[in-house]
Amino acid sequence: MNGLMMNYPLTIDRILVRAKQNFPEQEIVSRLADGSLHRYTYGEFYTRTLKLMQALRKLGVKPGDRVATFAWNSYRHMELYFAVPALGAVLHTLNIRLFPEQLVYIVNHAEDELIFCDKSLMKPLADLEPQFKTVKKFIVMDDLAPDAGIQLKGMTDYEALIANESAVEDFPSLDENTAAGMCYTSGTTGEPKGVLYSHRSIFLHAMGISMSDSLAVSGRDVILPVVPMFHVMSWGIPFAACMTGAKMIYPGNQLIGKPIADLIEQEKVTLAAGVPTIWNVLLQHLRKDKADISSIRAMVVGGSAAPLAMIEAYQKEHGVQILHAWGMTETSPLGTVANLKHKMHSWSAADQLKQRAKQGAFVPLVEARIVDDAGNPLPWNGSDSGELQVKGPWIAASYYKPENKEANASFTADGWFGTGDVARIDEHGYMEITDRKKDLIKTRGEWLSSVEMENAAMAFPGIAEAAVVGRPDDVRGEAAVLFIVPLPEKKDDLDLKELHTFLGEKFAHWQIPKTSDIRIIDAIPKTSVGKFDKKVLRKQV
Ligand code: AMP
Repeated sequence: MNGLMMNYPLTIDRILVRAKQNFPEQEIVSRLADGSLHRYTYGEFYTRTLKLMQALRKLGVKPGDRVATFAWNSYRHMELYFAVPALGAVLHTLNIRLFPEQLVYIVNHAEDELIFCDKSLMKPLADLEPQFKTVKKFIVMDDLAPDAGIQLKGMTDYEALIANESAVEDFPSLDENTAAGMCYTSGTTGEPKGVLYSHRSIFLHAMGISMSDSLAVSGRDVILPVVPMFHVMSWGIPFAACMTGAKMIYPGNQLIGKPIADLIEQEKVTLAAGVPTIWNVLLQHLRKDKADISSIRAMVVGGSAAPLAMIEAYQKEHGVQILHAWGMTETSPLGTVANLKHKMHSWSAADQLKQRAKQGAFVPLVEARIVDDAGNPLPWNGSDSGELQVKGPWIAASYYKPENKEANASFTADGWFGTGDVARIDEHGYMEITDRKKDLIKTRGEWLSSVEMENAAMAFPGIAEAAVVGRPDDVRGEAAVLFIVPLPEKKDDLDLKELHTFLGEKFAHWQIPKTSDIRIIDAIPKTSVGKFDKKVLRKQV
């Protein structure tokens, strides 16, 4: 029909060009492995990204080819985030913390041809190189780590690669549904599964996280993504930053305590994002070694549940607001954000806190429902819980080259993606995860939420972290086993009887772990992206 709007393609090169035209002077700061800071502007970033595109062309990268990265968060990684998709190729961000067999599986499954790796990360790749079937060449990004004298196939230095290229504005015209990026899910069961993001999904997701009721990314922000660039595209933050003109602060390989506190204080970070463990470590650090982190307007926590006690502690001790969010590799990841709605501002502080500890309200363009075992939708009443299913323009429609039929079983015939999370949704539309389907514990024939017990235990004074798994039990069917990590000062005098009484306020006596099922450990084992690794704990029980 005549008179309609333009069919403007939602492709990543358009985001890149915006940066050069609208905020070339804005800064991108990166911590290098020697502790120093590298600073340059979006203008320089733009020029170098064009040069990188030329270099990739000369290396024979064609549309659809997979180009991998094995790197920390840094400006060069950001250049790759844009140069590879702008050529029509696919950026595959490899998780640097994966077990070797999984890494080999993923590289071969994705058929990666080039791997860009940080100098500080060459060793694990050198060990595995002979098993990579399709990799032709490694490009090393010198992050100023000490030289370990390691050699990799066809090794070239990143700076040498782009040095003599010219910055030509030659963007192929791409369909917005072209694949742009890929990540593999951490694979808690079976082989890891590949998720392919399109230009369109990345573009819309970048707009999604910039909406004011979601993360409100804007040109007034200074953003510190501690979430790795290999974990769901760093939650899409580099794309939203380049779209809005936010100043970026990349933390490199120094993610704990002091280096993070210093970056926040010195660069006046306004928005920081990461998994709960990172923020818990920072909180403990700040109790010993003070720093001013009051510039933060929102500390985004996702990937695992943000404990209520931590949300409260940041508020009280630093005046910093934790913004709880939920998502998955398959959902790009943004699904929900726990901002308070207007009407909630008159609620009591305790009720507000409870609401903010939920995973949050669904952002526009993400539709959701919870269903029972037979797939029937359940009401949003805050008490019925069932599997969470979602759909939307940045939710995966299938897995990349699934190994077997089961891999795609999460996608329903009527167009929903089954998340495997068990959740309830309250009458305000706020979702609360009660468990992963496989982490629920069936004790005396009743479902017990491991997450609820963990949250309860973490609210007990003196406990830093808690994880709950089930063990087979003759009487109860399954019984809960509670692993706890005490705060250092409570290491030797945590009162387990008191803990028992404390849990008794929330749980029936037969749900509470026996004293012999409460185990004190030094640290909860974590997965490659920093979540509690319950597989390891289950093996121990
Ligand atoms: P991944 O694909 O590795 O990011 O893992 C996604 C899974 O992490 C989800 O299906 C949830 O089980 C879990 N998850 C993510 N965000 C949260 C959150 N805010 N609270 C609880 N679990 C979360």
